[in-house]
Amino acid sequence: MAFATIGKAGKAAAAAARLTDYDTACANFTWEMARRELGELPGGGLNIAYAAVDRHVAAGKGARLALRWIGKDDRVRDFTYADLRGASNRFANLLRRLGVKPGEAVFTLLGRQPALYIVALGTLKAGCVFSPLFSAFGPEPVEARMSKGRGAVLVTTAELYRRKVAPIRDRLTALRQVILVGDSAGSGDGPLGALNFETALAASSESFEVAASRPEDIALLHFTSGTTGKPKGAIHVHEAVLAHHITGQYALDLREGDVFWCTADPGWVTGTSYGIIAPLTNGATLIVDEAEFDGPRWFRILAEQKVTVWYTAPTAIRLLMKLGAKPVADHDLSHLRFMASVGEPLNPEAVVWGIEAFGLPFHDNWWQTETGGIMIANFAAMDIKPGSMGKPLPGIEAAIVRRLEDGRVEKTEVAGATGELALRPGWPSMFRGYLDEEERYRKCFADGWYLSGDLATRDADGYFWFVGRSDDVIKSAGHLIGPFEVESVLMEHAAVAEAAVIGIPDPVAGEIVKAYVALKNGIAESEALRKELLGHARRHLGAAVAPREIVFARGLPRTRSGKIMRRLLKARELGLPEGDLSTLESDTK
Ligand code: ATP
Ligand code: MG
Repeated sequence: MAFATIGKAGKAAAAAARLTDYDTACANFTWEMARRELGELPGGGLNIAYAAVDRHVAAGKGARLALRWIGKDDRVRDFTYADLRGASNRFANLLRRLGVKPGEAVFTLLGRQPALYIVALGTLKAGCVFSPLFSAFGPEPVEARMSKGRGAVLVTTAELYRRKVAPIRDRLTALRQVILVGDSAGSGDGPLGALNFETALAASSESFEVAASRPEDIALLHFTSGTTGKPKGAIHVHEAVLAHHITGQYALDLREGDVFWCTADPGWVTGTSYGIIAPLTNGATLIVDEAEFDGPRWFRILAEQKVTVWYTAPTAIRLLMKLGAKPVADHDLSHLRFMASVGEPLNPEAVVWGIEAFGLPFHDNWWQTETGGIMIANFAAMDIKPGSMGKPLPGIEAAIVRRLEDGRVEKTEVAGATGELALRPGWPSMFRGYLDEEERYRKCFADGWYLSGDLATRDADGYFWFVGRSDDVIKSAGHLIGPFEVESVLMEHAAVAEAAVIGIPDPVAGEIVKAYVALKNGIAESEALRKELLGHARRHLGAAVAPREIVFARGLPRTRSGKIMRRLLKARELGLPEGDLSTLESDTK
């Protein structure tokens, strides 16, 4: 279905955008530019935390607000760049005192609270590897990830420790020190042998010489979302900061003084690359909300904090859409300049709703845990074709390719042809391995390309369009059907809040399309509506692509990072084992 292109001329952010002319920016781009902006450590070397925080303090900007934390109960705590520098230095000193060596892994199992940010930065300063876990993980997912990552230190709370770590503590053989955050927790050498975070920090010095890390030293360990299977541990190095920094400018339009709200939890790569690093390297103020998603609260935060740049995800946008345009109208959101989305395909409907409700479009962008940073984006000063992921970042070569039997990879030049989305390796935030899965890592590369596992098309204007994950794509009667296209059409119907589409085996067609549809609040399920949706889909998609079956679902299974788990719908449909469910959030929302 055709959605009109949103011209850059109508976009408030276009005129003064950080990237004003895409083609010129691509032609002139070198990673050296980012390297020069970020500089080196005083004694040589590159360290993410120094580039994010200390560099600003050294430039006399220590008094700027770096992080504003909003508690569940609306309590606010502010940290200037100088505060963050001091606190992270203290944590780095603590690690040294505990004998934790550079290269060893520090895990967090924490909600979005200030300690998480201090630990992230302090760990990087000490040259250790930072690995954040979702606080909602149960004992098994914690054990699997910490064992694999050989976590030497765990920072958590007494409550989370009791529920999630105590049952598996014996099996975490690499774990030497637990540090508990919270007033009453782990005072000194308490019963758990744990230290108290606040006490230990207060006893540590505020001056620390940042570890002389080199660009290729390991800095971050991020586990993938587990949408398609068992989560993989992606290894990232300090040099990744060059990509975080520059993509923050180009794809999120970040600049000094921005009030930036990335709604992702650091347990997911977005919450670290863009929830901590990129906004800080660019001198912005980071908004951190401790609470979980809550539509009215989010509108209030956007207004009260005068958020200028907002980075969120399709699931949240779809939930906000359910509330209608009224909450937007009730708030003063005039400070908002740029809105972006990542994690799942952003339906054209949602992009257009952004304009109706906020007067601004959502800018979709695409990347993966493996790519470490945004690779394809809709830029502020670029026309948006709703439903498209946009164009590759300057410095990134992306293509639609086909893997040939002999191991070679063929680039597709035909506009509109579906193939695998591939990137030319060599960008700084590219993952350097899957932890303990050398073979799997190797298989991601062929003939000079990184193969993403996602299918996409590229149109004649160079815009990329997401088709589906190769695991989710449906082959029906000789057609290759991307779930995204079908889901988007279903969502255009006024009654539909969300949709997920899978292929189920069929003796004649190979596979047929089946859709699970969640209705908007207040709309009742009925046979008549089901028929109407089947008709709506057939009219827009044609009989070959439209779902043959539609069932109503109260909610859809999704990961903690908000992605629909189609593999789970399929496994349930076919009565197959459900596989790794460690990242499953809930089936209803
Ligand atoms: P796993 O690899 O464990 O199955 P995952 O791929 O969901 O999990 P992430 O690295 O968090 O883990 O997600 C990256 C994937 O998310 C991409 O490969 C793509 O399938 C999807 N994705 C991210 N952004 C977009 C987008 N803008 N449009 C469409 N899909 C997107
Ligand atoms: Mg993946």
